[in-house]
Amino acid sequence: MSNLKLCQGTKCHTYHTKDRLKGTKGNKTYQTRRRSNFYYGGNNFCSFNCYNDWFNDFGDRAIDHFGRTTEAKHLTEQNAWIKDYDWSNGYENRTYVYRNGITKEQRPMTEEQYNDDSYTLNIN
Ligand SMILES: [Zn+2]
Repeated sequence: MSNLKLCQGTKCHTYHTKDRLKGTKGNKTYQTRRRSNFYYGGNNFCSFNCYNDWFNDFGDRAIDHFGRTTEAKHLTEQNAWIKDYDWSNGYENRTYVYRNGITKEQRPMTEEQYNDDSYTLNIN
């Protein structure tokens, strides 16, 4: 039937908005928002507030679970390549390029390489 998802915000149901108020007369409750799409937190939260509420309640535990960053990461010449467009010949004639954020070197790339998420010049 419906493919509606529930907002994962821990306090979503406590915000008093008309769209959250559901039920029959005399039996109304504020309910967690239910939508086909959400725009926050990877399609899990109806608002930035709900995203923030969740993070305040669970963020530390989630970070500890998946691995807390304990040392500064470094962007070097070897891993600073980003996929980009070269607009120098105008919008219609834009080309795909790899651009190094450190050296500013630019290398041509095919559209296929641009769209291939596994294609990279970066060395980790
Ligand atoms: Zn929400």
